[in-house]
Amino acid sequence: MERRTFIHTGSAALAATCLRGVHAPAEEKDMKESKKPDAATGALTYFDVRAVSPALEHYTKVTLLGGLWMRPGLSRRDRSVVTVAALIARIQSMEFRFHFGLALENGVQPAELSEIITHLAFYAGWGNAMAAVAVAKDIFRERGIGTEELPAAKGNLLPINEETEKQRATQVAGNFGTVSPGLVQATTDVLFRDLWLRPALAPRDRSLVTVSALIANGQTAQMPFHLNRAMDNGLTEAEASEVMHHIVFYAGWPCAMSALPVAKDVFEKRKNNVPEVAKAGDGHTTKQSGDSTMKITRAGTIPSMAGPKDWFTGNVRVDSLFPADGGRHSNGGVVTFEPGARTRWHTHPAGQTIVITQGLGWVQKDGESIQEVRPGDVVFFEPGEKHWHGASVQVGMTHIAITETVDGKPVDWLEAVSEEQYAR
Ligand code: MN
Repeated sequence: MERRTFIHTGSAALAATCLRGVHAPAEEKDMKESKKPDAATGALTYFDVRAVSPALEHYTKVTLLGGLWMRPGLSRRDRSVVTVAALIARIQSMEFRFHFGLALENGVQPAELSEIITHLAFYAGWGNAMAAVAVAKDIFRERGIGTEELPAAKGNLLPINEETEKQRATQVAGNFGTVSPGLVQATTDVLFRDLWLRPALAPRDRSLVTVSALIANGQTAQMPFHLNRAMDNGLTEAEASEVMHHIVFYAGWPCAMSALPVAKDVFEKRKNNVPEVAKAGDGHTTKQSGDSTMKITRAGTIPSMAGPKDWFTGNVRVDSLFPADGGRHSNGGVVTFEPGARTRWHTHPAGQTIVITQGLGWVQKDGESIQEVRPGDVVFFEPGEKHWHGASVQVGMTHIAITETVDGKPVDWLEAVSEEQYAR
């Protein structure tokens, strides 16, 4: 498959391999032979980095890919979203090829990467988006990703919260309507009644991209509105905090440190239900946890995602139902396993409940035999209990999973369930 071929060539494979903590001899050999910058891609190899700074090579491999990226506070997919947003925000195009590829490996869908680039045209500038297009076009072509897989120029939009949007528009118009009526109008028409409602990125991810770009560009004046919006959209405080830790390596210490006091203020005000009134920006903060509006997430508003290959074996689709946020300590999702597909072995720090809704499934606790589960069956996995769940060989299985979190962490992934173990 083209995808496999891609990740096993060039420097992307080396770093991706390093990321997984594997050091295959063939790839070591590759590295030694890569004596020149890869002319076809413009990407650097570790050999290049070592030739200039062995220390930088070490930090890249150990501190970043082997350390930062392995931290539990933020999924690798989210780390890729943050990194890609920071790189595009700063037009650090030398890193585009590697990180766009890594994002796709980490479960960011091509349609999502496409939409991140579109979004950043508005939040970082048109030229930034075009610099990203220049690299992404080759990656999409190499992987056979055609326009039919990408978000359409126009289409159905997510439902808008009219009350929230009216509040935002009124406040911004009141503050700046006389300074630049055109800009104020475009902010409403192009951003909040169009871009933000495009379904190709879940609102939480769109917020994550926006906040990452703001931090990376030192736009702290815009942060209170967007960090609040991100948290209203499901980004947890633990995740937001880890975003700042992650981004420090991609935007530098000063940008990340400058974001800290702003984030501290937002976190504290949300805890104390103090309404935020922004004096600048494309909006102001609206929803606080004290609001009486009932929170209903409408069906069909969160895009499906493919189950990442380092969490699952076989074809798995994950449809998020709700994140752990706003005082809620569990997340929910619907997981659909094709025949033969299953999770890796794993544990949950605070346990997990699954409700089988379709098909015929298998579940196994380490040391016990595989058990068959059918629609209506409810399984509770104790905190720390090593187990896996998945489809049976011939018949797929769908379950709802409610997973408790500890400090925002729902799961610790372990080794894959081997064919021998699965064949029972
Ligand atoms: Mn589980």
